[in-house]
Amino acid sequence: MQPIEQFFPNLNKPFKAVITCHQKPDGDAMGSTLSLYHFLKSLGHDVVVISPTNWAQFLDWMPGVEEVIDFEANREKSTELVNNADYIFCLDFNILHRTKHLEPVIAASKALKILIDHHQQPDTPNFHYGISDVKMSSTCEMIYDFIVQSGHSNMINIDIATCLYTGLMTDTGSFRFPSTTASVHKIVAHLKELGLQHAKIHENIYDQGSEARLKFMGNAFLNRMQVFPELNTAIMSIPKTDIYRFDLKTGDTEGLVNYLLSIRGIRLAAIVIDREEERKWSFRSKGNFDVNIFARTHFEGGGHANAAGGRSSKSVEETAEDFKNIIIDYKTQLTQ
Ligand code: 5GP
Ligand code: MN
Repeated sequence: MQPIEQFFPNLNKPFKAVITCHQKPDGDAMGSTLSLYHFLKSLGHDVVVISPTNWAQFLDWMPGVEEVIDFEANREKSTELVNNADYIFCLDFNILHRTKHLEPVIAASKALKILIDHHQQPDTPNFHYGISDVKMSSTCEMIYDFIVQSGHSNMINIDIATCLYTGLMTDTGSFRFPSTTASVHKIVAHLKELGLQHAKIHENIYDQGSEARLKFMGNAFLNRMQVFPELNTAIMSIPKTDIYRFDLKTGDTEGLVNYLLSIRGIRLAAIVIDREEERKWSFRSKGNFDVNIFARTHFEGGGHANAAGGRSSKSVEETAEDFKNIIIDYKTQLTQ
């Protein structure tokens, strides 16, 4: 993979590009793809954003989101766009299989692939240009740098600023995680100078939930949570019946795992949700318990040191039991 700077001269020649991200895009995935979309479009390029799957409703207010193509709902059109692209920008994921069923389509395309990402252990040999930096708070921070370092700082308009802020805010837990550096705050200051309406963005992301979602959460805390104080660990397992009973939509469980870390002393939080095709794990930790390694070792996943995901093909009860047995072996690390 060549350094991203080597790609900058290509920005001056017209091209066709597809921008994509990981399946079930979150605020950073959608924010980074859309900010890059607005930027490349204003440079005159022929660009389209293809999401591998659908996304949470709480992202539907974002500028440009109405132009995003859902691959699973438009396979033919998306495949044609990928096949005809000169470049495919791969944002906010480290390995192609994070694009789910879009993976073989991207892999088969002759387009040059560009990686911009902050997850651990990127599959760099499969990309032509790129930058991968786990120290970055968010892919949106990296898109900001991409625009500035390629000499286009003056092109950051209010739409780009809004999309960038969305990823910066969501991936830093509203600017509280250790990844929130001085650079992050300086970027936000710059975006504010451009007229960013930050309070409105917080409202759009965090205050659009349904009444049923809050009832689901109440039920989850009361009936689906187990705390193991001797291991500084809390776990929640969500059966499919809860998803139907509370009519949950994509994105309704996002952030739930973080609440488990709000219990005093808890250093490892885990939630497993019974999804259609698999049991999906989310792991969060505080301090030096590395959930990326934990998820890779035990649950076919990965991510960051303090936030990772994984999966299991077992039943939700079985995989939750597995987790409880596995963490006993980590007692020293979890309690030292
Ligand atoms: P979440 O728990 O919010 O789904 O994911 C937490 C972090 O781990 C995100 O950065 C996400 O991209 C990453 N992640 C989630 N699931 C997986 C997975 O199965 N494999 C890898 N490599 N990363 C994952
Ligand atoms: Mn991210």
